[in-house]
Amino acid sequence: MDKIKISDLEIYARHGVYPEETTLGQKFLVSLILETNTRLAGLSDDLSMAIDYGQVAHDTKQFLTEHTYKLLEAAAEHLAEKLLLTYSGIWRITVEIKKPWAPVLLPIDMVSLVITRSWHQVYLSIGSNLGEKEQNLNRALEYLKQDCKIQIKKISDFIETKPYGYTEQPDFLNGAVELFTLYTPQELLKVLQKAEADGKRERLFLWGPRTIDLDILFYDDKIVFEPDLVIPHIEMQKREFVLKPLCQIAPWKQHPLLHKTVMELLSDLQ
Ligand code: ADP
Ligand code: MG
Repeated sequence: MDKIKISDLEIYARHGVYPEETTLGQKFLVSLILETNTRLAGLSDDLSMAIDYGQVAHDTKQFLTEHTYKLLEAAAEHLAEKLLLTYSGIWRITVEIKKPWAPVLLPIDMVSLVITRSWHQVYLSIGSNLGEKEQNLNRALEYLKQDCKIQIKKISDFIETKPYGYTEQPDFLNGAVELFTLYTPQELLKVLQKAEADGKRERLFLWGPRTIDLDILFYDDKIVFEPDLVIPHIEMQKREFVLKPLCQIAPWKQHPLLHKTVMELLSDLQ
């Protein structure tokens, strides 16, 4: 990706743990690397196609002077999020905040923190086999759409399938979703579990199979192996009802461990 760099923007602000820091304030130097695609702006020479770095610098100054954080970590985290949410052209951002006057009572030149934050491309499987199945799937999607840290990009058709495993239950309706998110895998899992709970609440009396099931299939090309979260989804290559809708929206996406495309995984299964 192309990079726009803003170096050592000087800002006087009140972040810090000590009362002197929050009352007197001090100097901060902020550097940003904005990762974006500048091709269209480059070819057209049109400012409206570009990220206005002047505006980014002014927004940065305004954000860091209007808010007060104890930690550089918090200041950088919230600034990164604010800029990623404000400028749709920024895919990844690196924020460095330097504190040249940090009160450490030793002759240091500078303390600084550097973080990189990014949008991530995620594929989900969504399924329901209880109640108004289509409504359940749409309700879960509405729930996710209300979250500013999630941008839904593609939704497959919903397909009807026979249950897998425990077969004494109603047919399933399944779909696949592509989204961009600022959440980490674990944070996204929590959001999906909340969306599931939101979908179940209305039909508590019908507890049983599943009103709604939201699973993470892929998260970039990341491999996660934790007690409560495995990505790529551990069973996806065995499940036609996962691969079929996924193949509609991402036939060429490669499984990062099996090194086969979704289309190949589906035809292997069939
Ligand atoms: P199912 O396996 O049919 O999706 P559940 O929805 O009840 O069953 O999920 C059981 C557990 O699976 C969840 O508590 C969650 O922690 C775990 N899990 C592991 N990997 C994933 C993943 N990739 N996506 C969603 N849940 C996952
Ligand atoms: Mg699940």
